[in-house]
Amino acid sequence: MLVLLARHATDIEIAQAIASLEGRGALVQSTTQGGQTCLVVTGLAPGADASGIGAMPGVEQVLPVTRPYILASRTFSADNTIVDLGGLPVGGEGLLVIAGPCAVESRSQTLTVAQAVARDGAQGLRGGAYKPRTSPYSFQGLGSEGLEILAEARERTGLKIVTEAMDIDQLAEVALIADAVQIGARNMQNFPLLKAAGEIGKPVVLKRGMSATLTDWLLAAEYILDAGNPNVILCERGIRTFADHSRNTLDLSIIPAAKAETHLPVIVDPSHATGRRALVSAMARAAIAAGADGLLIEVHGNPGEAQSDGEQAILPGEFRTLMQELAVLAPILGRHLLPAPIAQPAPAE
Ligand code: PEP
Ligand code: MN
Repeated sequence: MLVLLARHATDIEIAQAIASLEGRGALVQSTTQGGQTCLVVTGLAPGADASGIGAMPGVEQVLPVTRPYILASRTFSADNTIVDLGGLPVGGEGLLVIAGPCAVESRSQTLTVAQAVARDGAQGLRGGAYKPRTSPYSFQGLGSEGLEILAEARERTGLKIVTEAMDIDQLAEVALIADAVQIGARNMQNFPLLKAAGEIGKPVVLKRGMSATLTDWLLAAEYILDAGNPNVILCERGIRTFADHSRNTLDLSIIPAAKAETHLPVIVDPSHATGRRALVSAMARAAIAAGADGLLIEVHGNPGEAQSDGEQAILPGEFRTLMQELAVLAPILGRHLLPAPIAQPAPAE
């Protein structure tokens, strides 16, 4: 249950409400919601009488939470959370487009694709410096050198950087450079990593696990929220099914389902969801039509030579066409594309 304190509640009143709840065996965590103190109350014995709480001085409202997640729920916040991604508001009317290669492979590859997607209206650059690969023999990423390349790409283009941390040891280093840290599908239930991501001062893009239900996904987000980081962007990236025409199956219906359950922004990765270049743009448009707040798309200047996921990377020209289509589609849906970065200094030599 959630206990919302009045704006004028005194420290003593708040302490008394907490003591009263704890006296009934509850675990109480204090947080703020729209500038008001809010008590997240768990562990009240079934049938425990919480009725008197609503009448305590300083208590404005008692809200029963019928979901296993609390902070991620619409009960906690009916209003959409707007995540500040390096100054860009994500989760409002503006649509976010993060584009770039699967992996940072070299300076020139990354800077070239960054310039192209920035020119065509992307606001963010994706690219793994640390790569979770199914095979230990596959390219594992450039690590720290890759992060430096991403930082240079931001300097040159103004694009916000989204890149993955695969474990707790990488988190601080990645968070230093990234505007948002990605937690990949394979790590969606890496609970120590989720808790640690709750302690960084950067937004987290949380991919949906490939066999995660909506509840699993929101509980994973809850770990990050509960650890103190309110800036979580959910990213649907397809789930494993029996389909053999695509790498995964893009679960479009989870977009409105998630938006109904949570106040967090929901974006879609049509690249990992399909695994096939020919399907990516159509699914990107479909995701926006279904209510997604943005896209995370793989774009590569020379996919035939890509070190990872070349088959699903769209070409810069295809990305340009997609952005033109989205610019037409967005207003029909009451949305618009977020502004592309203003600063676009000279291209890399
Ligand atoms: C990625 O975005 O490069 C990636 C590895 O995604 P996922 O975790 O969704 O497979
Ligand atoms: Mn990839």
